[in-house]
Amino acid sequence: MIASEVARSQAKSEERVLHERVKQKLEGMPPRYRGKFTKAISGRSVKAAVHSYCAECVGWEDVAHEVRNCTVPDCPFRPWRPYQQHPKKGTPGRSVVRQFCLRCMGFDTDGALSLSDARRAGEDIRDCPSALCPVYRYRPFQRRSS
Ligand code: SF4
Ligand code: SF4
Repeated sequence: MIASEVARSQAKSEERVLHERVKQKLEGMPPRYRGKFTKAISGRSVKAAVHSYCAECVGWEDVAHEVRNCTVPDCPFRPWRPYQQHPKKGTPGRSVVRQFCLRCMGFDTDGALSLSDARRAGEDIRDCPSALCPVYRYRPFQRRSS
């Protein structure tokens, strides 16, 4: 087999594994949150990704109440979380996800990143192993093919 065929076959096999994992995750969450998650992982909606993340963040339990009353004041998703009485107008951009991913990977987002941190953040987030994270498709520093 030539190299390109090997790569194609490997990509197909990875796709099949991911498809199976997505299916399992969907089966493990309450039906009402499946649509948002599916939209989130389609890569078409940062807003759906944030909503889906918030639902998952509170364990899909009493979601409207828990997310509305979220007690994490500095979470980058907080202004965009669903179920608020006065939701923020517009849609969240990828910069919100960038902030979130940086925090998720343990980087301080209060000031500018040092060059070495920026390089490390790029590698860590690009190679994030959590393909089932609702915001994975919107994370920064991706390779074109991700
Ligand atoms: S705003 Fe942040 S901390 Fe609050 S529910 Fe959403 S993801 Fe979780
Ligand atoms: S995509 Fe990866 S780095 Fe970003 S929030 Fe999800 S798990 Fe964290």
